[in-house]
Amino acid sequence: MPEFREKADVCVVGAGHAGCEAALACARLGLRTVIFTVNIESIAMMPCNPHIGGSSKGHLVREIDALGGEMGKNIDKTFLQSKMLNKSKGPAVHSLRCQADKAEYSRSMRMILESQDNLTIKQAEVCDFLLDEVSGKKKIVGVKILTGGIYECKAAILCTGTYLNARCLCGEAITYTGPNGMQSSTHLSKALENAGIKLRRFKTGTPARMDRRSIDFSKMEEQFGDERVIPFSYETDPEDVQIKQESCYLTYTNEETHDIIRANLDRSPIYAGVIEGTGPRYCPSIEDKVVKFSDKNRHQVFIEPEGRYTNEMYVDGMSSSLPEDVQLAMYRTVPGLENCKIVRNAYAIEYDCIDPGQLHLTLEFKEIKGLFSAGQFNGSSGYEEAAAQGLMAGINAVRGIQGKEQIVLDRSQAYIGVLIDDLVTKENTEPYRMMTSRAEYRLLLRQDNADLRLRKTGYEAGLISREQYERVCEKERQITQEIDRLKNTVIGASREVQEFMVSMGSSPLRTGTSLAEIICRPEFTYEAVAAIDKERIPLEEAVIEQINISIKYEGYIERQIRQVEQFKKLEKRLIPEDICYEDISGIRIEARQKLAKYRPVSIGQASRISGVSPADISVLLVYISSKMK
Ligand SMILES: Cc1cc2nc3c(=O)[nH]c(=O)nc-3n(C[C@H](O)[C@H](O)[C@H](O)COP(=O)(O)OP(=O)(O)OC[C@H]3O[C@@H](n4cnc5c(N)ncnc54)[C@H](O)[C@@H]3O)c2cc1C
Repeated sequence: MPEFREKADVCVVGAGHAGCEAALACARLGLRTVIFTVNIESIAMMPCNPHIGGSSKGHLVREIDALGGEMGKNIDKTFLQSKMLNKSKGPAVHSLRCQADKAEYSRSMRMILESQDNLTIKQAEVCDFLLDEVSGKKKIVGVKILTGGIYECKAAILCTGTYLNARCLCGEAITYTGPNGMQSSTHLSKALENAGIKLRRFKTGTPARMDRRSIDFSKMEEQFGDERVIPFSYETDPEDVQIKQESCYLTYTNEETHDIIRANLDRSPIYAGVIEGTGPRYCPSIEDKVVKFSDKNRHQVFIEPEGRYTNEMYVDGMSSSLPEDVQLAMYRTVPGLENCKIVRNAYAIEYDCIDPGQLHLTLEFKEIKGLFSAGQFNGSSGYEEAAAQGLMAGINAVRGIQGKEQIVLDRSQAYIGVLIDDLVTKENTEPYRMMTSRAEYRLLLRQDNADLRLRKTGYEAGLISREQYERVCEKERQITQEIDRLKNTVIGASREVQEFMVSMGSSPLRTGTSLAEIICRPEFTYEAVAAIDKERIPLEEAVIEQINISIKYEGYIERQIRQVEQFKKLEKRLIPEDICYEDISGIRIEARQKLAKYRPVSIGQASRISGVSPADISVLLVYISSKMK
């Protein structure tokens, strides 16, 4: 039979959140791209929680948007409720979170892919690779699909999520499917191992979905969205997101719930030892919560809509792999769920993924040129983490083909930089999820300034237009100019001013004081000093926000900028690519092995590898200096 062959530039394996961003980036940068999915219905599917964003994940979405990705725009079109989290805390941890209409999110992303030039969608299971050898190094030259077709390519991006050799567990019942009963992908793991890629097994879980009509919401606390919605995307008109929002509801587990769980732990695949994979510590199942936090007599449960045109409600906080009968009994102890009907059972899923230590910071495999990977396959968990990696892998796959310098965001530039550096450099033994505490420079990496931090990179990558870039340059100019003016405008201690100060609950001025100094006082903001600031010109809300933050947190921000300068010095101390750690006798054996395994590019990266001590780094520095002489 004649062989079906097609030529592409990039093949993206997987159309989840990582695959969609990767494929869109490649196609938008002008390369012929094919995106494969075992099932077209799984395009941008959300198999677990029905929200995008949240603590630190909201930062990722803003960064994806600033770089020219799609996630922020898509959730702005398809959200049901929006909230800026942590508003009572400092701006570093403010984070936007939107409840999504899952079906709409997926449908809308599919439409975006279908309308994208240079992009072809193919429902097929990729089962093998075609590798070539160039100068003694393996190189990807194509992928093969199960039905026999071959797609020649110059780069491929693996975004297989939770589908590789997946099995789902609900008590004693095991099914060999991917999420939501989708067909799993069973052939690629073998091909990966044949190519020398090491796999491991992770797991995650999801709660049950209830029929809305069976829930008594009067026993729960209604949770509303923000009155004034702020869009995720810098491109969305704020007026377009002022929609009628849906409510969520808060309720709690209790001792009765916990007793049922404890009495049936032997029937949980996790506790019975049936599950081999490691689960995410920061998204524990309800079984885990009850066992690990046995002193707590209740846990929060949020009941969230899955969409505008469905009765399904998501039971956030109660993921489980207990058997169906136990699930029903345990859910029915929760106030408001006494008569609940389960539409979909909770389950755990196990899947193959990689140790991302096999990747460069560009997300390209160290041992296979042109092969990149992103998302859950890299050992992370979460839609936003996946999308962020997909975007970077897409950008770098294209740049690799075009012979351009790769783009790596560092830890001081973006949460995306922290995410990828953590994945590639640190030993992760469980699914990795982003958290604000993982970012050392979080006062600089705020969700409100992602455009100021990253628009330029997006423009240089080719995903942000000149007009979009110029808009952010103008914003930056206005911020700097206005801060300068506020620092240089001195207000005299006139009677009118003193009365104003007292009326604002502040102490009178002792001497002439700059407007910036007045704004620094806790009682004031930029907006609040309008009455004594006669020269101001109208500015946009987003510009004013930056002015307030820059002035109020100036000391902290300056301190963090100095820390970043130190950090950059170590990042710039590059380690020769051909270094042989075996030759450096002063480094401890454990550190030597870790350095040889991760092959860090800089002293900074080397210092973050667990098991490499400051003493090892000193020896390494001396060794490199002696070699450079
Ligand atoms: C049960 C469950 C619970 C979860 N719980 C959480 C949670 O609590 N918190 C959280 O943040 N995240 C959770 N997630 C994870 C979240 O769904 C993922 O992080 C996110 O979807 C990963 O995106 P991705 O693009 O990497 O992969 P996915 O969204 O999984 O997409 C993978 C894509 O790859 C395709 N594919 C796979 N193999 C092949 C192949 N060989 N050929 C062609 N196509 C292929 C699939 O068709 C699919 O399109 C959960 C997921 C599941 C399934």
